[in-house]
Amino acid sequence: MSDAGDLAGHRISLVPTPIGHLQDVTLRALDTLRAADVVAAEDTRRSRVLLDRHGITTRLTRLDAHTMAARAPALLQQHRHVAFITDAGTPGISDPGAELVALARDLGVEVEVLPGPTAFVPALVLSGLPAARFTFEGFLPRKGRERRERIAAIAARDHPSIVYEAPTRLLASLRDMAAACGEERSAAVARELTKLHEETRRGTLRELAAHFEATKVRGEIVLVIGPADAERAGVDAPPLDAEALAERLASEGRWGRDLRADLIAAGVPRDVAYALAMRLKQGGER
Ligand code: SAM
Repeated sequence: MSDAGDLAGHRISLVPTPIGHLQDVTLRALDTLRAADVVAAEDTRRSRVLLDRHGITTRLTRLDAHTMAARAPALLQQHRHVAFITDAGTPGISDPGAELVALARDLGVEVEVLPGPTAFVPALVLSGLPAARFTFEGFLPRKGRERRERIAAIAARDHPSIVYEAPTRLLASLRDMAAACGEERSAAVARELTKLHEETRRGTLRELAAHFEATKVRGEIVLVIGPADAERAGVDAPPLDAEALAERLASEGRWGRDLRADLIAAGVPRDVAYALAMRLKQGGER
């Protein structure tokens, strides 16, 4: 193996590829695949379809999780510019990538990662759940203590959790989630994103489990589980009309501190609850 430094000027580009629709690839990704000396891919036959579609003739060579440690150092030595792609989406996201980045860094090879397609981002946005903060869980273990602990953590979170799931495991996971989070927890199942049979189904874990019990599911799946405190609201619930709620409560004789407390308990932000309670109190005194 070369000493670090020998490979100065060598570069590896991690290039995201479509998660379904072959046109979901950036212009820069295509340029990079075209300009590289070699494209290392998890599955060369599958990646050939993408390269052919875009008229890219760069040589493809196999590099996957099993061959990474044995093959990557030589590839990085032999070629000044290697592009790495996985079967779909962004390398390193529930796919090989992290090990390659570490290896390249150790060898003194420059690493660049292009931004691009990944399945969890459209799934999260399509879920309609609050997306300002989230936890990406990737694939959960199929059984055992680690699975139980990961699901317990999902149940306790105050923000959405994203899980990659196989169709054969979806129902079991929905049931396990319902047992830990409660059946009324909001969730969404995003399936076959960007493909012909794309579908996003939103509902409670109970509703989703009932649906997928009755309907055979195929394809690739992302499961998004809502935060603990969104349980009562539901994903499709209309936004809370704080003003209308305050007026109704006031008409029922709730004023001042009591009104404020009722509004906060219903999910109205504290500052809004204060302002409404103040305004209605003043209105009531006029
Ligand atoms: N590197 C990919 C990424 O950036 O999203 C993830 C690769 S991982 C091996 C494959 C999993 O990603 C699938 O089992 C599924 O959970 C999710 N996935 C990939 N493509 C998808 C799609 N078109 N629709 C829904 N989920 C998808």
